[in-house]
Amino acid sequence: MLIDLKKITHVSRRITQTLGPGWWEKAGDKGLVLGFEDPLSVSVEIYRAGDKYVLEGSLNGSLQVRCDRCTESYRRELKTAFRLFLAPPPRDGFDEEVALTPEDLAGDFIVGETVELDDIIREQIYLAVPMKSLCRIDCRGLCPECGADLNQGDCRCLKSSGRPEFAKLKNLKFEGE
Ligand SMILES: [Zn+2]
Ligand SMILES: [Zn+2]
Repeated sequence: MLIDLKKITHVSRRITQTLGPGWWEKAGDKGLVLGFEDPLSVSVEIYRAGDKYVLEGSLNGSLQVRCDRCTESYRRELKTAFRLFLAPPPRDGFDEEVALTPEDLAGDFIVGETVELDDIIREQIYLAVPMKSLCRIDCRGLCPECGADLNQGDCRCLKSSGRPEFAKLKNLKFEGE
């Protein structure tokens, strides 16, 4: 959804949207986030502050995320709130007066005099999912030998205990008994 900044004043404007699974699929991204489990509620307020725009929003829903360890998809709640400062790119002649702060990086989202809200939402979704995203804290992951999902049970490699590290673990256990 494009927001026309020319229409944004110091009076905050609220935008609410519900995005269905198709919205994410359209982005064609099949990385960490596979899709939506539930429709995503988006609530955004935008207003002008001096020569900048302030965008405050929240996202509520749940995602289908790929587990970093076993590669299976799992459901992950998404509840996030964010605040961005949008600064129009500096114009010729005004450059000296513009002090660049990290906040101004959000200016990337401004094209002409519009902001693509979809891009901002997509980035916030990515920011809300940790790099190491696990389906559960004790996910056993995949066997490095045969690739079996060890959450489904031990694979043959583990059972035969032919690997030295597993044999050692077994011995330790025996010693303790
Ligand atoms: Zn997992
Ligand atoms: Zn195995």
